[in-house]
Amino acid sequence: MKSRESTRTLREKIIDLLLEKRKITVSEIIRFLDLDPRMEREVLSTIEKIPKTLKRKGFQLYMIPPKCKSCGFEFSKPKASKCPRCKSQRIEEAIFVLE
Ligand SMILES: [Zn+2]
Repeated sequence: MKSRESTRTLREKIIDLLLEKRKITVSEIIRFLDLDPRMEREVLSTIEKIPKTLKRKGFQLYMIPPKCKSCGFEFSKPKASKCPRCKSQRIEEAIFVLE
């Protein structure tokens, strides 16, 4: 962990970022928090654990699922790399929305 922000956990940083941006993708989180792109999986699993915390603050977290750019297929999971319908790898990322 980087020293300059060692007092805040990844979970707290993601919550703060969501409260600030209200609408964000995993790659934006990685970019804004200056994380290693390989931490995508960790960021996703952290997001899955925070809706309860956000609810206590009076917010609801929604996911706009990933979508295939070629045929419009909607995925049910936040992580998608290949379309099961047309095999395209041009996938629009999931968007997390805080309301
Ligand atoms: Zn497709």
